[in-house]
Amino acid sequence: KVRVRFAPSPTGPLHIGGVRTALFNYLFAKKHKGDFILRIEDTDQNRFVEGAEQYIVDSLNWCGIPFDEGPSSPTAKGNTLGKYGPYRQSERKHLYKKFALDLIEKGKAYYAFDTAKKLDFHRNDHEKKGKTFIYNWHNRLKLDNSLSMTPEEVQRRIDAGEEYVIRFLTPPDEKLHLKDIIRGDIEIDTNTLDDKVLFKSDGMPTYHLANIVDDHLMEISHVIRGEEWLPSLALHQQLYDAFGWQAPQFAHLPLIMKPVGKGKLSKRDGEKGGFPVFPLSWNESVGYREAGYFPEAVVNFLALLGWNPGTEQELFTLEELVDSFSLERVNKSGARFDPDKTRWYNQQYMHQKDDATLAEAFQLHLKEKGITSTSNDYVQKVVSLIKDRATFVSDFWELGDYFFVAPTKYQEKAVKKQWKDDTQEIMQNLASFIDGIADFSSENVELEVKKWISEKELSFGKVMPPLRLVLVGDMKGPHIFDIMALIGKEESLERINKAIS
Ligand code: GLU
Repeated sequence: KVRVRFAPSPTGPLHIGGVRTALFNYLFAKKHKGDFILRIEDTDQNRFVEGAEQYIVDSLNWCGIPFDEGPSSPTAKGNTLGKYGPYRQSERKHLYKKFALDLIEKGKAYYAFDTAKKLDFHRNDHEKKGKTFIYNWHNRLKLDNSLSMTPEEVQRRIDAGEEYVIRFLTPPDEKLHLKDIIRGDIEIDTNTLDDKVLFKSDGMPTYHLANIVDDHLMEISHVIRGEEWLPSLALHQQLYDAFGWQAPQFAHLPLIMKPVGKGKLSKRDGEKGGFPVFPLSWNESVGYREAGYFPEAVVNFLALLGWNPGTEQELFTLEELVDSFSLERVNKSGARFDPDKTRWYNQQYMHQKDDATLAEAFQLHLKEKGITSTSNDYVQKVVSLIKDRATFVSDFWELGDYFFVAPTKYQEKAVKKQWKDDTQEIMQNLASFIDGIADFSSENVELEVKKWISEKELSFGKVMPPLRLVLVGDMKGPHIFDIMALIGKEESLERINKAIS
């Protein structure tokens, strides 16, 4: 059975790369009718950030990609605690040591007593000679570890309370053949690897040990994670072999690259998409949610960051993504983040949403502006007139503020251009004419006003632009008669009269 996990360390807000990893895991799981598991990798106590776990859960839920198994939390809805729990590594810490000891027994790992000071000394010493210090076959026998001690001495030092770590014993002169679904076969020379720490002096496992033990105990079938973990694959494969366990299959996702230039997308790319899903108590004030992105748009653009369907199709519902997704179609090379395309996606979903939903979202913005008495029906009509020009719901105000408040000033340039000597009089006459129109539907007002213009032998240019200016305050906006019909006769007249008084 397919069982995959998203295994973040709760060290801060979830950035877009992390969400992409979660999404690809989710899609793969659902495609194969498997399980999507959330495991919190919080063994590094120094990097623990309060609230980060809840943030991760909220982000996944907001995106609409809930997990099947994961830490149960009283505030997170829909989290079923699976039978492989606990799903927080901090709650599993009693579990790991015996696996480290097991490796020592098998001759695959060893105790190392080197002090941090001593290791620093070696590092500096090597650096002076222009070399890098690696704790491995090259010099491990000269260092302070159990490989050059009798079992009695090792025991004596442990009993005396000396601090130690447990390191993996990398065999020298071996060629490892690693497999990655996306990258194919990879060959690694073990002489280039260092003896990574598996178990730390503080009694906690390192990421490597905990990760492998948990993936094994949780019966994970596929490990899908970011490319930054590819260098760990050699160790991980060796750990599975050392334990005598069947390793899961691996797939390392390409990096997400900056919109321009070199390097991977980072927090510093802020506005350009480097920001997190949404801010919480961290310093970021804006996330995708706050920027006005629809979860469907985020999911859609993320899916295409590194994966391609092999067709021209760009818009996918989550169900369609599940249907078409495959790891074989994930690219090896970095995926460039394109902020314009990201906004385009939001626009597409904007067009698909019904006016009622958009109006509801817009009402929240209106409330912030102090506009609370407007009916939902009215807001819906406004939305239907302006949404074609909007990328985000937050654009609605800028595009349609005049539907809610009369202009208090008129755009200067437009005034200069449109307001002629006879405009005042024309507007006055137009106002009296409009006052007499009984049927104030957009079509009828248009018909009547156009008739009036030709009867009076006026040009459109003399009437329409100033009319827009007095109603809107600017030259922007949809069809002017739609605006008039919506704000109504009384309000239209009031605005015209105010402008000419
Ligand atoms: N805890 C690791 C992280 O923060 C997990 C890496 C993996 O998936 O193996 O990304």
